[in-house]
Amino acid sequence: MDGVRDFGNGCLCYLQDCNQGSGWGWSNSGLIVDGDQAVLIDTLRDERLTHHMLEEYRAATGLAARDINTLVNTHADGDHTFGNRLMEHARIYATPECKDGILARPPSAFQGLLENRPEGIIGDFIFELYGPPFDFTGIDPKLPTDLVKEDMTLTVGDKKVELIKVGPAHTPGDMLAVVPSERTVFTGDVVFFTNTPVLWSGPCSNWIAALDHILSLDIETVVPGHGPVTDKNGVRKTKEYLVYIQAEARKRFDAGMPIEEAIQDIALGEFEDWGGSERIVVNLNRLYCEFGGKEPVTDFGSMIAMMAPYAERARKRRAGSSPEAPKSCCPH
Ligand SMILES: [Zn+2]
Repeated sequence: MDGVRDFGNGCLCYLQDCNQGSGWGWSNSGLIVDGDQAVLIDTLRDERLTHHMLEEYRAATGLAARDINTLVNTHADGDHTFGNRLMEHARIYATPECKDGILARPPSAFQGLLENRPEGIIGDFIFELYGPPFDFTGIDPKLPTDLVKEDMTLTVGDKKVELIKVGPAHTPGDMLAVVPSERTVFTGDVVFFTNTPVLWSGPCSNWIAALDHILSLDIETVVPGHGPVTDKNGVRKTKEYLVYIQAEARKRFDAGMPIEEAIQDIALGEFEDWGGSERIVVNLNRLYCEFGGKEPVTDFGSMIAMMAPYAERARKRRAGSSPEAPKSCCPH
């Protein structure tokens, strides 16, 4: 499924196998073309990957990167923005929250995490998340030039591309790119399909509302931020995951179950084999904050420390060995 997919109507996407490696960082992008005009939706997690993607788009459309004069960043995460420098000639549209997020978590932060990782399971997990083939060295992503404060419409030849703000959901500044004439939506990470959604921001109910908004649109083709091209079924699956996790977390919160225990106690069922299942740690952390009326804070270091053993157990389970009884390493 890797590579360019051309829908034949001026909408294309570039897909990466979302569950390879650790299942983190393998995102999709989109390209909307009309005549000699084009809008790129998102770059990839590093410049090598983004360069390859742009070459693939050139082979498919004849348009080189320099011919694409508009880029939309759906949100701030590095797997959607760290290739921005290869589009430095372009106008870059994103929400103000997206710009803030890129500034807050530059590639150097991840490179630092990688270089200073501890020995053992936590360090191994960090290496899986941020080590090769990803390369963050020397990357200085171009920041958005045009801040989208209200929903707006871009014009690409005769096509309209609607930029619809739906954050805070996955991140504080999520935005959809909808091509109504082609009944196509590029969702960024508002839709994860066959790869586990991660609730960096929330509130969770707002993410669910964003998915309901997509479901209300007259669209047929859904290009998710992670996973294969889908339709409204993929949107419903993302929603099912969030609704399920929210309900299961709520029961345990109300029963006074500590978060470390709740993380181990929730059976993921059909979502168990979606890549990045350890993101339940981040998701429950946000949900417990929401339920407790606390300002949600994601201490990334403690999230990593909790995710690493969860991911290790999931890997062993997939490999067929019997899972050991979970031990909490929660730093809370
Ligand atoms: Zn992503």
